[in-house]
Amino acid sequence: MQIIEINTHLLYHELEQPFQSSFSTFKARFHCLVEIICDNGIVGWGECLGSADINAAVVKSMSSLNIGHNPLNIEPIWQSVYNQYRDQGQRGPIHTALSGIDIALWDIAGKYFDAPIYQLMGGAYRMEIPAYATGGFRQEGCDHQQSCIEEMVARVEEGFKAVKIKIGFGVKNDIETIKALRQALGGDIEIMIDANHGYDTIDAIKIGCAVEQFNIEWFEEPVIPEALDAYQMIRARQPLPIAAGETWHGRYAIQTALEKNSVDILQPDVCGVGGLSEARKIITLCEVNHVRLVPHVWGTAVALAAGLHFHAIIPPMPICHNEYSPKLEFDRTYNPFRQSIVTKPIEHKNGVVPVPNGPGLGIEINKSMLKEFLPK
Ligand SMILES: [Mg+2]
Repeated sequence: MQIIEINTHLLYHELEQPFQSSFSTFKARFHCLVEIICDNGIVGWGECLGSADINAAVVKSMSSLNIGHNPLNIEPIWQSVYNQYRDQGQRGPIHTALSGIDIALWDIAGKYFDAPIYQLMGGAYRMEIPAYATGGFRQEGCDHQQSCIEEMVARVEEGFKAVKIKIGFGVKNDIETIKALRQALGGDIEIMIDANHGYDTIDAIKIGCAVEQFNIEWFEEPVIPEALDAYQMIRARQPLPIAAGETWHGRYAIQTALEKNSVDILQPDVCGVGGLSEARKIITLCEVNHVRLVPHVWGTAVALAAGLHFHAIIPPMPICHNEYSPKLEFDRTYNPFRQSIVTKPIEHKNGVVPVPNGPGLGIEINKSMLKEFLPK
């Protein structure tokens, strides 16, 4: 079996209602899929996290290194491609592009061996993943507190037992929003807060101390991801568990963050960290550093499927009668192609999502839908 073609597919949809994290405004949904075609007709799919057009350019640049190779040599391909590009980036687009390629190669391997990816990677600890609803962005031109609470009440009515909202819109505003959200949801729903590195150390510590009383599960990306010493300081000077890792790509960046004791919860994204091959290595780093691993997920059904296979193979740490299961991040913001590009949508039932059980990623791409969302 040989790789004969590597394509990227850009998916684009302009939003009628743009939404905001602490520092960015999402005016469109824009994602990049990777398609790898083999000479025997097997096709694998992957997805890259982050800027879709940059990822597509880097995947294109990497493609010539892979054409003609046996796609089952996933690790040698990963190592040789990364080695060619490591001088230009030990994190960022090199890793996000390589992630899409790596996931597509695992999809091919699964189809070739007629086995789900989680099986090829050593087997599943769980086949149903409890999910949390991600949302609560600030809708442009709307009152954040009101729209955030309405949205999260709806998610709980849908069956989610845990929700994550965006903060980073001012200390006072954020504290009031979190207080009102806890009152609206009652005591049994888990609440996570994500500042998307919109604060400095002083304000992050203020927020963490002020909202502890509202029983917050974790405080995500309080400050910029480069500031590892600040993460360590925030952990020491406020009471909430600190989570981060969606921008720490590759084993070296993550090892550095773990050596600095930056987080209580590490959040690598399969589509950014270097694909499923690298994600599996990150499991070992978390084990030896004794850090909880709860992956980040953001993208289409391809990213969701890859994330579910990753969740399936994360061992409980420790194995015990009352094991902690890492929750699946389930983005509930509007994205018309998230599920329509696959023949069978990945959905939750009462906040629980099954791991796809078919060969490879266990999904089938609806290719005619890809054309519907081509960038204009
Ligand atoms: Mg985040």
